[in-house]
Amino acid sequence: MFLPRRFIEVSARLSSLPGIGPKAADRLVFYLLDQSDEDVRALAEALMAAKREVTFCRRCGNFAQGDLCEVCRDSSRDTKLLCVVEEIRDLSAIERTGAYRGLYQVLHGRIDPIAGIGPAELRLDRLLERITLDGVREVIVATNPNFNGDITAMYIAKLLAASEVRVTRIATGIPKGSDLEFADVFTLTQALEKRTDVQS
Ligand SMILES: [Zn+2]
Repeated sequence: MFLPRRFIEVSARLSSLPGIGPKAADRLVFYLLDQSDEDVRALAEALMAAKREVTFCRRCGNFAQGDLCEVCRDSSRDTKLLCVVEEIRDLSAIERTGAYRGLYQVLHGRIDPIAGIGPAELRLDRLLERITLDGVREVIVATNPNFNGDITAMYIAKLLAASEVRVTRIATGIPKGSDLEFADVFTLTQALEKRTDVQS
């Protein structure tokens, strides 16, 4: 091995990150070691500060710095419209479209019978609470178009059947079985616009 131990250590840590293979990790270390002390320190400190200060939004489960996230803080948002997503990365994909002006509820998961994840783990009671408290008019279920995403959507529709709220599901513009986060902006915008009512 022609590389020093410290180099290999950093490279191994980087290559354990999603989307970064060993070659890309090596390239990053070559690049970083070429930077000034201040630049490397700034990167390390920014990472530590983010880890220390970024928490979850009390209301919707998005990342937040403080009590509420940037979406919940934005007073121009339509508070009567709620979009339910599995993960923060799905929220992020929808935000990228710029086509949605309502609020969110992040489940941090999906109903998964095989993994033993049920409604209780997803804090779906929180959703019910918000709908009542905020007078939500429509819940758009934007769980992924696969088996677990579909049963989660059906469960939510059943849960809300007794309430006045309209429950819709994003359209099937997104290929069945694929993830929301990988859909392009156009497809995702179409899927949002062509949403349909969920029968409970
Ligand atoms: Zn929030």
